[in-house]
Amino acid sequence: MRPALLNPLFADVTSLPGVGPRVAQRLERLGITRVRDVLLQLPTGFRTTRAIGGLAEANPGDRVSLAVEIVQHREAHGRAPARASALDAAGRPLAILFFGGQANRMLARLPVGRRVRVSGQLDSWNDQLQMVHPDQVALLDPLAGPEAGSAGPEVEPSYPLTEGLTRRARIELVRHALDRLPPLPEWQEPTLLSRNGWPAFAEALRAAHSDPEADAARDRLAHDELLAGQLAWALVRARHRRRARRPLPGDGRLTAALEAKLPFALTSAQRRVVGEIHADLARPEAMLRLLQGDVGSGKTLVAALALARACEAGVQGAFLAPTELLARQHLATLESLFAGLPVRIGFLSGREKGRARDHVLAALAEGAIDILVGTHAIFQEQVAYRDLGLAIVDEQHRFGVAQRLLLQRKAGQPPHLLVMTATPIPRTLALATHGALEVSVLDERPPGRLPVDTRVIAAARIGEVIDGLARHLAAGRRAYWVCPLVEDGSDSPEPDEQAAAVSRAAMLRERFGETVALVHGRMPGPARDAALARFVAGEARLLVATTVIEVGVDVPEATLIVIEAAERFGLAQLHQLRGRVGRGREKSVCILLAGPRLSETARARLSMLRSTDDGFAIAEADLRLRGPGELLGTRQAGEQGFLLATEAQVARLIAAADADARLLLERDGGLSGPRGEAARLLLYLFDRDAAVRTLHSG
Ligand code: ADP
Ligand code: MG
Repeated sequence: MRPALLNPLFADVTSLPGVGPRVAQRLERLGITRVRDVLLQLPTGFRTTRAIGGLAEANPGDRVSLAVEIVQHREAHGRAPARASALDAAGRPLAILFFGGQANRMLARLPVGRRVRVSGQLDSWNDQLQMVHPDQVALLDPLAGPEAGSAGPEVEPSYPLTEGLTRRARIELVRHALDRLPPLPEWQEPTLLSRNGWPAFAEALRAAHSDPEADAARDRLAHDELLAGQLAWALVRARHRRRARRPLPGDGRLTAALEAKLPFALTSAQRRVVGEIHADLARPEAMLRLLQGDVGSGKTLVAALALARACEAGVQGAFLAPTELLARQHLATLESLFAGLPVRIGFLSGREKGRARDHVLAALAEGAIDILVGTHAIFQEQVAYRDLGLAIVDEQHRFGVAQRLLLQRKAGQPPHLLVMTATPIPRTLALATHGALEVSVLDERPPGRLPVDTRVIAAARIGEVIDGLARHLAAGRRAYWVCPLVEDGSDSPEPDEQAAAVSRAAMLRERFGETVALVHGRMPGPARDAALARFVAGEARLLVATTVIEVGVDVPEATLIVIEAAERFGLAQLHQLRGRVGRGREKSVCILLAGPRLSETARARLSMLRSTDDGFAIAEADLRLRGPGELLGTRQAGEQGFLLATEAQVARLIAAADADARLLLERDGGLSGPRGEAARLLLYLFDRDAAVRTLHSG
């Protein structure tokens, strides 16, 4: 239960003065429903209005406040705005303009012959300074001196706004919300505060909302948020460890047989990582490990060797893939790896219904299935394993699955957990996204791979690219054609993305006929599988696709990939897409079709991709060029993105926050001492309720 002390902050936003149902609706669009949300959405910037004596002191673009004399009016007519001509104290001209239906009424507030103080942004038009819609106007006493009514520079925070919500109203809202802040105990280490000169939480919030220079305050708040996140991870980990797991030493029976069957030797990185995993499995506490490996580094085989160990130790394994497509592919890979070995593999996705599903569930409960492969369906409440000993989660670059999974499993012994990701996560970010996990890195590719020849080509030259594609197909080779991503927060691809793929496929079919297959996210699953199967079998040799193929599709015969509107993709995503080729022994080519008018950043990103094949370097560059929200993809921003901490702050503060979280729990595992109690408040404040609940569960 949330401590009562926090009630005013978790009250509905309508409890603030001036917020009725209509305003509440608008705020909801900004993600604000509770008083706390108002407080934790910090200004995106500040605007400063400077009081000046005359126009000589200002430049176009400045926000200023100055006294002028109104000398002439021209009322609005037709499309022309209402206009007041004014002169500053030195006789320099300023035009004050009003647009829209209220223009003449506003003009009337600036009577000819009067001195007024106007505040707003200056710009220039035909070499003349003008101010369109001043923020404020005030009549001045005609007898007052030149400085009359001038104020010091006025600083105003800027917030994300939405239609029907004015800047003023938004600022007022923050003021009222700040009034609701209860006195809170300190959850930070006092020495940390004094060493960094960090203010108390309430003071930091006030400063962050009002003072553009309050860097220390903003750092403190970022640290608060990161501490809450790392503390949540540490609690999850502690619970996972508490609920011990029977060790799975294994006798080498299956692992050795599996390895002996391989047509190649493990890379030394694979050997090392498998060793780390097997050592974890042999321990009497549950494994929590993150396996990072670039595209093509051979993660699936590592997963298979981990599953083999679980099976030979007599427990079940589960292998979760992010999409149906990928789950089926993992199924096929495991079936061929384990062929001839006494391992029974089952499959479950959202698509299995009725009898088929019941059959799988029964087999699983009896222990007639050793390894269950599938999508999220395999971890639903109703799915009961006889004895699940190892869960492998192939997250690709979706984050947050692991923590949710860990929090959700209530009863019983937790399985050993291995999370695999193909997105090389910079170390700092990995701490934040997968904080509780030990990290293994597959930093080596299987031998004999040729780097992919990557070229950036202007979209205008698409005709030449298609001619090249024709030669490629005529030579009996296979290729991918990827259609642009439409920026989108939802899970399924946008209709536009689909439309682009559908019409591109139609266009390419006119030229290449039935050898063109199409897959996109909105296709019914079986149709998608069938199309992909045709491509895998070589019946179709050109696969037109949306980003559904980005995750893990493995067709070594495909040696060309064309990516349309490449500038719209994230760098890490392009790297993933490119990873679809270069999987065989033949030289592969990746063509990035780029639209006209590339921004400087877009150009830098594409040329980065051309110059390196190292996923880690690319991820670091992506982080530098675009920020973590983009690296994680828009859909992850909400899940793991931070409210307060900026990318730079995450990089700078995460290690300390993590160390602090661990130390705090080492000293006070139940969070029951004074600082622990305060830390609970912090967890609630950042919506980590589920992590607090682990304190009361087994
Ligand atoms: P990832 O999932 O890490 O992107 P995969 O597991 O799909 O990579 O492996 C990519 C390809 O490399 C697969 O075709 C796989 O059979 C092959 N492979 C894996 N390990 C080795 C190895 N040690 N030597 C040669 N080929 C390997
Ligand atoms: Mg893979």
